[in-house]
Amino acid sequence: MTTLIIAPPPTPNGDLHVGHLAGPYLAGDVYARMLRGEGQGVLYATGTDDSQTYVVTSAAKLNLTPEALCAQAARDIQDTLKLTGVQVDGFAPFDERYRATVLAFLTPLFEQGKFEWRTVTFPYDPVRQEFLVEGLVGGTCPVCLSGSRGGLCEACGHPNNFMELLDPVSTLHPRHPVEGREARILVFPLERYRAQLEAYYARQEGRWRPHILQLVRELLAAPLPDFPVTYPVTWGIPSPYPGTEGQVLNAWVEGMPASMYCSATAGEAGGLSPEQAAALWEDPQARLVYFLGFDNSYFWGVVHLALLMAHGGRFVLPDVIVPNEFYELEHEKFSTSRGHLIWARDLTRDVPRDLARYYLALTCPEHHRTNFSRSALEKLTRERLLVPWAGLQRHFVPDGTGPLPVTPAGQDAARRMAERLRACYALETFSLTRLADTLTQHLQRLYREADEARAQGHAPSGDLWHQLRVLLHLASPLLIDATASLLLDQQQPWTALLDESSVTPFALPPLVPEPALA
Ligand SMILES: [Zn+2]
Repeated sequence: MTTLIIAPPPTPNGDLHVGHLAGPYLAGDVYARMLRGEGQGVLYATGTDDSQTYVVTSAAKLNLTPEALCAQAARDIQDTLKLTGVQVDGFAPFDERYRATVLAFLTPLFEQGKFEWRTVTFPYDPVRQEFLVEGLVGGTCPVCLSGSRGGLCEACGHPNNFMELLDPVSTLHPRHPVEGREARILVFPLERYRAQLEAYYARQEGRWRPHILQLVRELLAAPLPDFPVTYPVTWGIPSPYPGTEGQVLNAWVEGMPASMYCSATAGEAGGLSPEQAAALWEDPQARLVYFLGFDNSYFWGVVHLALLMAHGGRFVLPDVIVPNEFYELEHEKFSTSRGHLIWARDLTRDVPRDLARYYLALTCPEHHRTNFSRSALEKLTRERLLVPWAGLQRHFVPDGTGPLPVTPAGQDAARRMAERLRACYALETFSLTRLADTLTQHLQRLYREADEARAQGHAPSGDLWHQLRVLLHLASPLLIDATASLLLDQQQPWTALLDESSVTPFALPPLVPEPALA
């Protein structure tokens, strides 16, 4: 069985900041590394979402063409994933195959009449004679009254379509008047999938994080809106369907085929043939997992899901969606336009990346907004990671005397510890924060026990060495550099360690690379 992990392709209107990293990308990486460590099949993939109108608005502000911005941002994002240790198996390019994959997914739905024609009214700028959708229009969310862009409100997660945004304003030309104007477009009538969506979500109740389930309940309490498949704007993939001349595909309708293309890119990188890789989502044994920002839940959890359902069982449906909330910087929202952000690559330049990953895990916004603070990073990584680690380095020193025996009591303690840590990795209880916390608890415990042994004149026993070794394997998806030299070879799952009846003391690598001697 292969687990297909998708982190949503970021909009290529800039590099990744720390908020992105603390959201889906680190979580997906840690989960993927855990599965790899257990010897399970996994393909973790992402790409870029070039069709978003946000590319157009960002490029205008930067005085770049949207194409140039996309190309630069795609390179930056891939570099940043590498620098932060987010090890994706595939990063899909936005190329001709991408477009072909999108059309291969949508065209059968068009031909089978799964899309319908609607004449709807959009916000329209009469000066520039342009329709305003998605990132091109701002206003007030009709559900929660926050400021919102078109299509979706980041604050409450509810969609808004057509003229639903209150007080619509052009993002690029805010002084221009905005009026309503009709256009005939293709829509995907979500309400047709109500019964299937309700049955699907009845199965997820209690298994997934509560906020996304709350959103779905709220959405299902009213007729589901029609989802616009095409838009009368110019940025995006041109719609090939007769009657939609001059329109493009809504970027959000690309989500599923784009994700399939991401998985396929990963599959091909891993040695699958293009045909095998393209069919990964058609394997009923595959397990599909998304990590994503809560603000995208409506698309991934309703629209995309219904689009998969519209294919009548051809594709696997997501097993678990793990959403995250917003991460704040010094108690204010990350903002690219105000420069209130820390780029993920800058963080890993300033702070050893194991420490950065530990702090982001400890504070990431799993259930509500949380905060990144430079002073807290220094305090918490010192107290909860560096100090216990240095203590362990003092006590656990290999003295060259061969393997030490591990007693059943030592194996038992390691198993109990492993069980608690594995609960942090299990998707239904997935928590990077608890993982970081539990890790610290056991680093401190093993230090304390070794300290007590030293006080009585003993070196750490085989039982303590065994527990330390198991702990480091369980920490390895998060602390990637400090544990790299200790890991079992790739063929052997770490769980094989649990039954070992002896352990050879090893040198505990430093958490912070030691400065080169002058
Ligand atoms: Zn809202």
